[in-house]
Amino acid sequence: MLGARPVMLVDTGGIGEGTHDLMQPAIDIQVDAALDIADIVIFAVDAQSGLTGADAGIADKLRRQGMPLLLVVNKAEREGSATDFYALGLGEPLPVSAIHGQGMAELADALSLLLPVQADGREMETAEEPLANIAVIGRPNVGKSTLINAWLSCDRMVVSKIAGTTRDAIDSILPYRQGFVRLVDTAGQRKHGRISDVIEFVARVKAVQAFRLANVAVMLLDGGEGIVEQDMRLMQLAQDEGCALIVAVNKLDLLTEQEWKYFAERLHFRMRAMTDIPVFRVTATTGKGAKQLLHEAVHAAGRNRFRLGTGELNRWLVAAQQAHHAPSDDGSMVRLKYASQTGTNPPAFKIFCNRPGKLKTTYKRYLEQSFRKSFDLSGVPIRFSFVGGTNPYAEKGS
Ligand code: GDP
Repeated sequence: MLGARPVMLVDTGGIGEGTHDLMQPAIDIQVDAALDIADIVIFAVDAQSGLTGADAGIADKLRRQGMPLLLVVNKAEREGSATDFYALGLGEPLPVSAIHGQGMAELADALSLLLPVQADGREMETAEEPLANIAVIGRPNVGKSTLINAWLSCDRMVVSKIAGTTRDAIDSILPYRQGFVRLVDTAGQRKHGRISDVIEFVARVKAVQAFRLANVAVMLLDGGEGIVEQDMRLMQLAQDEGCALIVAVNKLDLLTEQEWKYFAERLHFRMRAMTDIPVFRVTATTGKGAKQLLHEAVHAAGRNRFRLGTGELNRWLVAAQQAHHAPSDDGSMVRLKYASQTGTNPPAFKIFCNRPGKLKTTYKRYLEQSFRKSFDLSGVPIRFSFVGGTNPYAEKGS
């Protein structure tokens, strides 16, 4: 948080020592990656090693880009040790000492002056809330753009393309029934050469940015390929960031029924640890299944907004404990006394119990599954937090 504003800090990793010429390609890639995803760049240099060729190379590039930028000189405990860095031509260097916490307040002040006015971008185009904010995710070439185009051409009255949160993101607004849905832009990734960890890093940060704006993620897989570790990580990330998740298997036109069955079996096996993720089939090139998939995504977004009355919530809590008591690590019982909903998108609940630290992970998982089944919340990440103490409303008689 920066004052009242939430910010996302992205560490691009250091650029190593070496001669300037040898380093330049790596510098370019790192700087491109940072510029691609950031609103503000903090260029950190080291007062103890002084001005290096690598610093000058990065400074050249940053100067040409003209992005909002802060030149921060770390390890600048010694008075005047930041002055050399004026030579970079990036304005006034800001001396700090990360280890001693010096200069942090000044850094926060300088940053807050540079923050974009509409950093969250949520209310930029309309005061009305979309029925769903949908992020279509998946590896390159699985058919994300084709699917989005199929959706956009389902309804000829595409209202507009609007600017999203990051500088180059373009979200699409699609009329849907009485309202509209927003397709959160997850594309637009620049090519960063063949340095795969940089690509992976940028893809991950872009995914997090998209998930924070979305409330449902459609994970697109290529029916001709299997599901790989990278897909699993992306799905986990979507759920960790609070998105409801559905899986769509694309390019069904290329599969026989037998091949689809085999694919589905492998898919369910890989996703066995992830509870209850709905799976749909689609052929993006012909649009077959695309409309149905959009309906399902809107429904999933609705499930993510799930809200439950306190009475019903607590009746479920009693029933879940009657079906299975909560054992603790030492074999005695944990009593779950009272639950209240603390949020939506995703649905979050606080459960008061006598010894929260003793509750087993397996029991927490059981509760989550029971809840998801009881209220038909497939694909929705449910957040339970277990706290000690009694029902805070008990004395009011509720
Ligand atoms: P993205 O990188 O995920 O956005 O993938 P694209 O939408 O660019 O698609 C990659 C390739 O897959 C293109 O050549 C598409 O024509 C092809 N493709 C996409 N969907 C389908 C489909 O349903 N069936 C077939 N056979 N090809 C598809």
